[in-house]
Parts: sequence; structure tokens; C-alpha cells
Amino acid sequence: MECGEKIRGRADKKFCSDSCRNNYNNQFNKDTKNMMRNIHNALRKNYRILESLNPEEKTKTTRDKLSKLGFNFDYFTSIYTTKAGTVYYFVYDQGYLPLENDYFALVKRK
Ligand SMILES: [Zn+2]
Repeated sequence: MECGEKIRGRADKKFCSDSCRNNYNNQFNKDTKNMMRNIHNALRKNYRILESLNPEEKTKTTRDKLSKLGFNFDYFTSIYTTKAGTVYYFVYDQGYLPLENDYFALVKRK
């Protein structure tokens, strides 16, 4: 199935041989490791950007400034919604809150 070989045996058999299965698993592990490394790098970069912009643990910035530094809005580690419905995004303990007009509040979680 994976390599295009006709498979004999059980209907749920996915690989024609051990080496075929090993090749598949090695590639899968490699892809997974690459994906995880890329995401980890993006989170680390986001964290460093927030940390550098927010040394006093509370400030404001702009979307433009974040983007120019390479901030990637797709990657955060958690979301916190207040009772009033305000949504904070966190990268570990560094948080950001979208405000009006492409401004962002930056906060640090205690
Ligand atoms: Zn095969």
C-alpha cells in the first residue's frame, strides 16, 4: 500500500515488508520531528519578541511592530478568557491582547 506493492495477507495489512514499514516509520518520525521543531522555534521566537517588547511586564505595541520582528500570530500556548469575555493569548507566561486599531496590550502572567 505504501510503496505500491500488491499486499498479500490480512486486509488491514499496510506494508508489504518489514523494510517497507521501517521506511515509512522513519519518514514519519522525521516529519514529526521537523514539524515539532518548527513549532517550537516559532513559539520561542514569539516568546523572545514579547519579552523584549515588554520588559516592565505591562505595555502596548502595534501589530506592525510585532510583524516586523517576525511575530507569528498562529502560535501561542494558551488562551485566557476573562469573565467579561476579553481574550488573552499567551506564549508561556507572556500574554497579548488585541485592542482596537491594531494595537496590542502586552502583559506578563504572575
Ligand atoms: Zn512496500
